[in-house]
Formats: sequence, structure tokens, C-alpha cells
Amino acid sequence: MGIPELVLATRNPGKRAELEALLRRAGLPLRVRTLEDFPHVPPAIEDGESLQENARKKAEHAYRYTGLAALADDSGLEVEALGGAPGVRSARFAGPGATDEQNMALLLRLLEGVSDRRARFRCVLAYADGSGVRLYEGLCSGYILSEPRGSGGFGYDPIFVPEGFSETFAELGEEVKNRISHRGRAFGAFLADLGRRWTEKG
Ligand code: IMP
Repeated sequence: MGIPELVLATRNPGKRAELEALLRRAGLPLRVRTLEDFPHVPPAIEDGESLQENARKKAEHAYRYTGLAALADDSGLEVEALGGAPGVRSARFAGPGATDEQNMALLLRLLEGVSDRRARFRCVLAYADGSGVRLYEGLCSGYILSEPRGSGGFGYDPIFVPEGFSETFAELGEEVKNRISHRGRAFGAFLADLGRRWTEKG
């Protein structure tokens, strides 16, 4: 019963580490693979206009090429004062192939002198197993600092302080981040649904 193997459809090492830690903590009876185990799989084209569209594409792509149930994540940072940008363009905010440092530098420049620092991370997880695609969402609200702090995590972590904390995601460490993050929350919704479906199957 259930799914014996699951492939994580991401090549982003930061995200992969977080998803692997979340799966380990959940203690599911699953063998977890990543796209690193399938070097023949071409990169998925992430040209969707929304996180939902991109997550769905990545999960379907990984399922099609590996034949395994696939879990994909698409996520981004939405900054209030920028009307929700960078959003779906978070990874390439400062241009194609931009580094995390370049993206953060651009964001900080755009927010210079701006007092409304509210922002939130949004994560959409897509699960594809041949019987369709299921989507799950998680949000984490907080605010943007005026300079980076901390060395953990990835992406915009050094400039994002989640609500209820005074440290950045890059200072809080994997355990705390996974408990409260957009990805952790989307993952919780995925697990609850998986548990429900397994129970229904008896
Ligand atoms: P994706 O790979 O197209 O989903 O791009 C997501 C981008 O959003 C990443 O490259 C990061 O820049 C940003 N991002 C998503 N989740 C996080 C996070 O947990 N911390 C920091 N940045 C994140």
C-alpha cells in the first residue's frame, strides 16, 4: 500500500536539504530520491506566470521522466511595498542567473528609505503521481532588514525576519526554520492530505 518511492523535483541544494529534512522528520515509509539520481532528466522549463503553474510543471516533468511519484516546490518572496515583487521571479530578480547576493542587494536598494518592510514567503508544493496533480500552499510573514545577517539557509534568508522572532531565517537554523517556514507549512498540508488518503484506502 502507498507509494514506495518519491522523487524530489528540485536541483536547488538549499531547498532539497530542507525538503529532505522535512521528510526525514515525518518518518514516512518512503524511499526518497532526488533528481541528482536521474542525470538523464532534462531541466524543467520554469516559465509559468505563477508559483502554482511552475510547481505543477516541475512535478509533472519529474513524474514523466522518472515514473516515480514526484514532489516539486516553487516558492518566492512577496514584498508589500513592491506590490508583491519579486514573487514568482524571486530566483532571477536581478537578472537571469543572478546570485542570492545580487538578488538581495537589488531588493535592499529598492527598499532604501522605505519604512513599510512587510513581506512574506509563499511556497506551493505540487505532488504528481500519475493520477493527477495535487497542490499545497504555505505562507510565512515577516519583514525585511536593511542589511543581511547570518550564514545559514539560502536565497533571501539573511534579510528576512519571520513574525514573532528577532533573528533572520539565516540565523534561526534548519530546525526552527522548517517548523515555521512557508515550505514547512506547505509540507504539513501535504502530509496531512497523504495521511488522510492512506487512511481512507485502509
Ligand atoms: P524557485 O526555485 O523558482 O522556486 O525560486 C525560488 C526562489 O525564491 C529562491 O531561489 C530564493 O531566491 C527564494 N526563496 C524561496 N524559498 C526561500 C527560502 O526559504 N528562503 C530564502 N529564499 C527563498
